[in-house]
Amino acid sequence: MRLIMLGAPGAGKGTQAKKLSDKYNIPKISTGDILREAVQQGTELGIKARTFMDSGQLVPDDVVIGIVEDRLKWDDCRNGWILDGFPRTLQQAYALDRMLERIKMSVDYVFNLEVDEDEIIKRLSGRRSCESCQTAYHIHFNLPKKKGICNSCGGRLIQRSDDREETVSERLKVYKERTEPLINYYMEQGLLKKIDSNEDINKIFEKICSYM
Ligand code: AMP
Repeated sequence: MRLIMLGAPGAGKGTQAKKLSDKYNIPKISTGDILREAVQQGTELGIKARTFMDSGQLVPDDVVIGIVEDRLKWDDCRNGWILDGFPRTLQQAYALDRMLERIKMSVDYVFNLEVDEDEIIKRLSGRRSCESCQTAYHIHFNLPKKKGICNSCGGRLIQRSDDREETVSERLKVYKERTEPLINYYMEQGLLKKIDSNEDINKIFEKICSYM
């Protein structure tokens, strides 16, 4: 099964992708997670990506396309994958199409998580994530068992630097300009499934699973 999660920042792509990954035993590939890890480790990629990420801009297409191209070659991708946060521009979507064409594979579904804008702001401002494994939580909607501590790995929960108010409005603007056109792109290919995502995490998950 090969799936793409689309939606604005804070729509819940990562949370749903993680649940799908656990249920269907296929990897969740998040370009955001890969980039944040690189930033944390101070690698060449991280140094290059950091300024874009901190200002709410997209990292250049060639960089993220390269990341995904490498990652899809791993053994664990044999039975499928879930892309979370990629593609984010039409150029990236075309590049993904070319990669898949080469290996004679196709995408099964593109889930567009639709959330009202005021709900998005609420979600982003309360979002916390694990410093070590990046699992996402929320101070109202998705609490960890122990305050400030990750359920999965015991890591410390922090607020992402790009979830601050100033950066959030820039990220939403960039989303509208660069990523929203992908909705039409995948609709025209008959792959898009719209998921009303103004509800709680489990209800959204049920809706997604009803397609599988
Ligand atoms: P995310 O965790 O998906 O919200 O991504 C965090 C940040 O990483 C974004 O605001 C971008 O700066 C960068 N990023 C992640 N995925 C992509 C992508 N597919 N294309 C360009 N930049 C990306």
